[in-house]
Amino acid sequence: MVGGGIAGLAAAHELAGEPGVRVVLCEAGERLGGKIRTEAFAGVDLDLGPDAFLARRPEALTLCRELGIEDELVAPAATSASVWVGRRLRRFPPGVVLGVPTRLGPLARSRVLSPAGLARAAVEPLLPGRALSGDAALGTVVRRRLGAEAHRRLVDPLVGGINAGPTDRLSMEVCAPPLAAAARRSPSLVRGAREVTAGAGAGDGPLFLTVPGGLGRLVEALARRLDGAGVEVRTGEPVRALQPAGDGSYLVAGASGPVVADAVVVALPAPAASRLLAPHAPGAGATLTAIEHASVTLVALAYPSAAVPRALDGSGFVVAAGQGRLMTACSWASSKWAHLDRPGQVLLRVSAGRAGDERASALDDDAVVARLRLELGEALGVTGPPAEVRVARWPGAFPQYAPGHLARMATAEEELARRLPGVTLAGALLAGVGLPACIGSGRAAARRALEAAVPPA
Ligand SMILES: Cc1cc2nc3c(=O)[nH]c(=O)nc-3n(C[C@H](O)[C@H](O)[C@H](O)COP(=O)(O)OP(=O)(O)OC[C@H]3O[C@@H](n4cnc5c(N)ncnc54)[C@H](O)[C@@H]3O)c2cc1C
Repeated sequence: MVGGGIAGLAAAHELAGEPGVRVVLCEAGERLGGKIRTEAFAGVDLDLGPDAFLARRPEALTLCRELGIEDELVAPAATSASVWVGRRLRRFPPGVVLGVPTRLGPLARSRVLSPAGLARAAVEPLLPGRALSGDAALGTVVRRRLGAEAHRRLVDPLVGGINAGPTDRLSMEVCAPPLAAAARRSPSLVRGAREVTAGAGAGDGPLFLTVPGGLGRLVEALARRLDGAGVEVRTGEPVRALQPAGDGSYLVAGASGPVVADAVVVALPAPAASRLLAPHAPGAGATLTAIEHASVTLVALAYPSAAVPRALDGSGFVVAAGQGRLMTACSWASSKWAHLDRPGQVLLRVSAGRAGDERASALDDDAVVARLRLELGEALGVTGPPAEVRVARWPGAFPQYAPGHLARMATAEEELARRLPGVTLAGALLAGVGLPACIGSGRAAARRALEAAVPPA
C-alpha cells in the first residue's frame, strides 16, 4: 500500500491476515491518517480535518464495526444548519436533499429565497425537460431546473462547501449521487429529492456519525489492528518511484530501500499518484494530472461563552458565494457535538478557500484569523479575542471532480490493468471526498490488486 490516509489504511486492513499475503504500507509523513487529524485544543480533542462521516453509506460504519468501535459512535447533538445570505443567517428548510427542497411550505417559511426566487423554484416540478443521461455539472442542472437563486443560496453553499468548489464545475454523479440517480429517472429535481427522502432507510438513524475523541481514534484503532495482524507500517517513507521488475512484480522505491511487491495499491492524492504512474501508464498519468485541486484553511477558535451573544442552536452555517466573504462555512463545534461542549466555552471551526478563491492561501495565519474574526463579528456578533486559535492549512486537499470524472477514472483504471497489472488506485481521487467513499475504494482496490497478483483458482 502506498499512502497512509484512510484509503490506504482501509486497503491494508482489507488484506491484513489474508493467508500467505505480506502487507507493507508506506506513508510519506510521520503520522498516519492523512487528512484525518485530531489535536488537543482548548481542553478537547478536536478534528482539524474531517469531523464526521456519512452514516447512510455502509463503508465507514462497517469498518468501525470491524474495529470494535461502532458502539462508541455518536450523532450530532444539533443538526439544523443555516446559510449566510446578505446580512442574515437563514435556517435551511427541513427536508432538503443536498440543498434541493422537497416541500414548498417549509422553503417559503425559511425565507432563504426571495419571493421571486421562491416562485421560480416552486414551478420546477411542472417544467418540461429530459432525464439526465451521462453526467453534467450539478450547478448547471440546478440552475436550469430551480433557478439561479435556489442554486446560489441552497445547493451551491452546501455541495460546493463539502467539495470546496463551485458546483458549476462539479460532477453531479460524484458530488450528488442520489440526485444524479433520481435525475436519470425523471427530470424534476424536487420530485427526485422527494424520492430520496422517501427511499428505503432514508429516515432511519442519523445522517452523520463520529468518534468522540476525534476521528484520529479511528486511525489509531486501524493502526492497532494492522500491527496485530503483522502488517509492516513504514512512516516517514515517501515512495518516489514504482518500477515493473519484469517478472510481474514491482519495485516500490521508498526512502529506506525498495520493497518488492506482487501488487500495489496507490492510495495517494492525484498529483502524487500521477508522478508514480505516468512513466508507465501515460494516459492515466495525464488524467490524474488534469484534476484541479482546491486548498482550504481551517481555523479553530475557542471563545468564552460571553463573547458570543446569540444562541448557537444548530450545527453551524455555510456561506453563499459571491458576497466577498472569506469564510465558506462555520461549524458550531461545541453545539454540534455534545462531547466538545464545555461549560463557559464556545468552539468554532471556520473554513475558508475554495476552487477559484485562493485568498486564504495567500494570507498569513494572522491575517486569515483577523479577517475571519471580523466576519464572525458580522455573522454572530462575536466580540473580543478568542482564548485559543489553531490554523490548519490543507493545500490542494480537495479534488475538483469535473463532469465525466467517473468515466475518465474508469478509463485510467483500464489502462493500469493493462499496463501495470496488480497496480490499483484508491482514495478521494477516484469517486468522492467522503470518508465512506475513500474507505470503500481502498478495500475494493486491495481486493482487485490481490486478485490480479493471485488469480482465483
Ligand atoms: C478540512 C477538511 C475537512 C473534511 N471534512 C470531511 C468530513 O467531515 N467528512 C468526510 O467524509 N470527509 C471530509 N473531508 C475529506 C476527507 O478527509 C478526505 O477526502 C479523505 O480523508 C482522503 O483520504 P485519502 O486516503 O484518499 O487521502 P489522504 O488522506 O490525502 O491520504 C494520502 C496519504 O498519502 C501520503 N503520501 C503522499 N505522497 C506520498 C508518497 N509519495 N509516498 C507515500 N505516501 C504519500 C500523504 O502523506 C497522506 O497521508 C475533509 C477534508 C478536509 C481537508
